[in-house]
Amino acid sequence: MDLLGVAHQLHEADQKRLDQVREFLQEHIRRQSIEFWNREEFPAELVQGLAGQGLAGLQLDGSSHLLRGLLHAEIARADVSLSSIVGIHNELVVGMIDALGSAEQRELWLPKLTKFQAFGAFALTEPDHGSDIAGGIHTTVTREGEEYVLNGAKRWIGMGTLADFALIWAKCPDSGAVGAFLVESDRPGYSATKIENKIGLRIMQNADIVMDNVRVPLENKLPGAVDFASANALLMQSRAWVGWQAVGAMLATLDICTAYAKERQQFGQPIAAFQLVQEPLAEIAGNATACLSMMVDVARKQERGELETVDAALAKSTATRLARRSASLGRALLGGNGVVTDYEMAKVFCDVEIIHTYEGTYEINSLIVGRALTGVSAFV
Ligand SMILES: Cc1cc2nc3c(=O)[nH]c(=O)nc-3n(C[C@H](O)[C@H](O)[C@H](O)COP(=O)(O)OP(=O)(O)OC[C@H]3O[C@@H](n4cnc5c(N)ncnc54)[C@H](O)[C@@H]3O)c2cc1C
Repeated sequence: MDLLGVAHQLHEADQKRLDQVREFLQEHIRRQSIEFWNREEFPAELVQGLAGQGLAGLQLDGSSHLLRGLLHAEIARADVSLSSIVGIHNELVVGMIDALGSAEQRELWLPKLTKFQAFGAFALTEPDHGSDIAGGIHTTVTREGEEYVLNGAKRWIGMGTLADFALIWAKCPDSGAVGAFLVESDRPGYSATKIENKIGLRIMQNADIVMDNVRVPLENKLPGAVDFASANALLMQSRAWVGWQAVGAMLATLDICTAYAKERQQFGQPIAAFQLVQEPLAEIAGNATACLSMMVDVARKQERGELETVDAALAKSTATRLARRSASLGRALLGGNGVVTDYEMAKVFCDVEIIHTYEGTYEINSLIVGRALTGVSAFV
């Protein structure tokens, strides 16, 4: 089922690339990711497979926003955790160094990052500040001679335990200025501890990072990260990417549920023959189609340079809300088999909980939309 015939809006070469990547993901990633997810383990070989498809360099390879979005959706359709690894890597690590880094930082890191020969992490959230991080950065940075000294803690940082460096957002206690610093993970005083027992995105290794007088040379500051608005510009684009992830999760739900409904027999016939099984399938297809259509519009706005914060917030909140609704329907459609990851649906069900919360919670993104609609801020 080619919902909306969206792929046909791509150039022929892009359609071919999308087909090839989809085939690879379905054959080499989808089933293989389950055991890594169960064990909360990083699948180095699967990630290298994704690099082989050019997905580590998606941000800078000149692909259109629509192709990039559809590729991100296809990765999520195969495995949502891996799509988080690829998405954050492209949008917030490669994208940040490219947009806000120095020429030297770009030259040193981008060639390795765009092949998954190196990994970075985007470190904004703190233990005591999540939704209110814009005004709440407690990590400090002070200049001492030819070095910056960082102190503080970051929480939930994706790839934090494996990355070669983290892009740390910190505040100068004297001036109040906010900036970002590339902190290599082997610097003395830097530690990253894996957050265990997550219920979703279990392949993605998230970390608590602590910095105790970590020293970096002056050239480790990202010259373009001069205030929080620079972080917001990146986060606007990455929120749109989460919308594509949600579309992928809905397509996965539809794939899993349609196949199961045709195969599973009850009362002497496939459950697909029951009207109360067909109705949720239609709702899931409708949710996926509506969100796909919305994301195509988002991609067109990105291509014209017209995407605004409210567009990204609306796309993220709507797509993750409907992905969560769809996953809930899908889980029930599989009956008891919907609660074990072997049948895939339980994995999607858990993963969409996380995309509903990260990159600005559903509630915060709804408040951004509400503010734009009413002119009244309901944040505080
Ligand atoms: C698996 C995972 C991966 C992540 N990866 C990263 C990463 O790589 N880098 C990074 O920097 N961060 C990362 N995050 C952090 C993520 O962005 C935050 O979890 C998110 O911003 C919410 O912050 P919080 O968890 O502190 O929740 P809180 O801000 O404490 O929110 C708790 C609840 O209160 C609600 N709430 C808060 N304020 C308001 C308000 N004004 N009005 C109404 N409701 C409100 C929220 O919507 C939520 O329901 C990740 C999180 C997770 C779970």
